[in-house]
Amino acid sequence: MASYYAASSPAAPKFNELSGSEVADVCIVGAGYTGLSSALHLAKRGYKVIVLEAETVAFGASGRNGGHVGTGLNMDQDDIESKFGHEIAQSLWNMGLEAVSTVKNLILDYGIDCDLKHGGIHFAHKPGYCKGIEKEIEFLNKRYNFNDMEYIPRNRINEIIGSDSYYGAQWNKASLHLHPLKYALGLAKAAVDAGVTIYEHSRVQGYSGTPVVVKTTNGQVTANELVLACNGYIEDLEPKINGYIMPINNFILATEPLTPELAASLIPKDTAMEDSRFVINYWKLSGDNRLIFGGGENYRRGFPSNIKSFVQHYMLKVYPQLVNTQIDYGWGGTLAITLNRLPHFGRINGNIWHLHGYSGHGVPTATFAGKLVAEAISGKHERFDIMANLPTGKFPGGTLLRWPGMVAGMLYYAMRDRF
Ligand SMILES: Cc1cc2nc3c(=O)[nH]c(=O)nc-3n(C[C@H](O)[C@H](O)[C@H](O)COP(=O)(O)OP(=O)(O)OC[C@H]3O[C@@H](n4cnc5c(N)ncnc54)[C@H](O)[C@@H]3O)c2cc1C
Repeated sequence: MASYYAASSPAAPKFNELSGSEVADVCIVGAGYTGLSSALHLAKRGYKVIVLEAETVAFGASGRNGGHVGTGLNMDQDDIESKFGHEIAQSLWNMGLEAVSTVKNLILDYGIDCDLKHGGIHFAHKPGYCKGIEKEIEFLNKRYNFNDMEYIPRNRINEIIGSDSYYGAQWNKASLHLHPLKYALGLAKAAVDAGVTIYEHSRVQGYSGTPVVVKTTNGQVTANELVLACNGYIEDLEPKINGYIMPINNFILATEPLTPELAASLIPKDTAMEDSRFVINYWKLSGDNRLIFGGGENYRRGFPSNIKSFVQHYMLKVYPQLVNTQIDYGWGGTLAITLNRLPHFGRINGNIWHLHGYSGHGVPTATFAGKLVAEAISGKHERFDIMANLPTGKFPGGTLLRWPGMVAGMLYYAMRDRF
């Protein structure tokens, strides 16, 4: 399953498999944004860090996603405020903005060439949703002094999209978008240059003890701290977090390169786009003017046999004018969601840190998670604790039954979108 990202990135560096025994201050499992950002931020603070990756760097969602870098978490800020009060809500809002600026600063500081662009637009796919997004802009403006969002009503929609599918939109000028795999490879290079050791093809089979001994098939790392950065790919590695996250598969296509005129007619402001559907559609232009369109998901092991036509169905609902446009690539990836769509951070036995469940907001939030865990391991854990104290329930049915119950729920909401 070749992705456009793999085809358009420079050759990724190769790292050895772990064999024998190594010692580190911190061992990190997983080399996506969470693991790489944790590694980089820890190395900058002087820690000796080893990253163990089961496959290759950015094999997971970090090498496959839509590349949208939005502000905030996957819950409306007014809901966050009514659930947790203004003080926590303000901290979370500030951290959401810092997450976006952390991505931008890493790109600038380390010269990561990843097609960085500005702006994200959220579209209402039902007339009844317009009031809500307009009110949210007003709320953020008044309560959080955030002035970077503009409401676009139906009669101006053609200024921002070449489609009649939507009724109103929220244009966030503080959001970013980028080429996700180039960004991940840039983080890996920055981490290695800062002294981090990465091992690929080194799946962690288990760990125990304090200091923790982390075992792969052919080696082991002894470390004071362990960071679990596996998100949707974690499977049963840590039984204590089973049931708090659910892996889901999501799919993307890339069209052939479009003429500059056609590209500009679809996305006049060259922003990232997404809509209000429960199973969201999200799209943007690549550096070479392909439409990168994400749509559709499934909740089982395995991907559809023909991802290109699976996603094309969603794309044509937004842009019927692309019916004769060739689809060059189709691919999928796995992400982790939580029950309330807030991230699930925590600490087990004092020295095992888990950071996951970004619920589709992982590009900024996973990057920021790495900064937070480095801060916490260095002894300054107040901000990590705010995230870790957010209540995240277990999926109904517990570990064993979470699939059937949740799948039924997800399918119900997906169906509701159609009516
Ligand atoms: C199709 C798709 C589109 C998305 N679009 C967006 C978007 O536009 N914007 C956004 O913000 N978010 C998006 N997301 C979510 C985002 O990509 C993720 O939240 C983010 O990449 C998570 O990063 P991570 O490092 O935590 O996990 P991953 O990048 O998934 O990395 C986890 C790594 O852990 C490794 N691993 C697992 N188990 C072991 C083990 N036992 N031993 C060693 N290694 C192990 C895996 O091989 C994997 O490489 C999307 C996700 C998908 C799948």
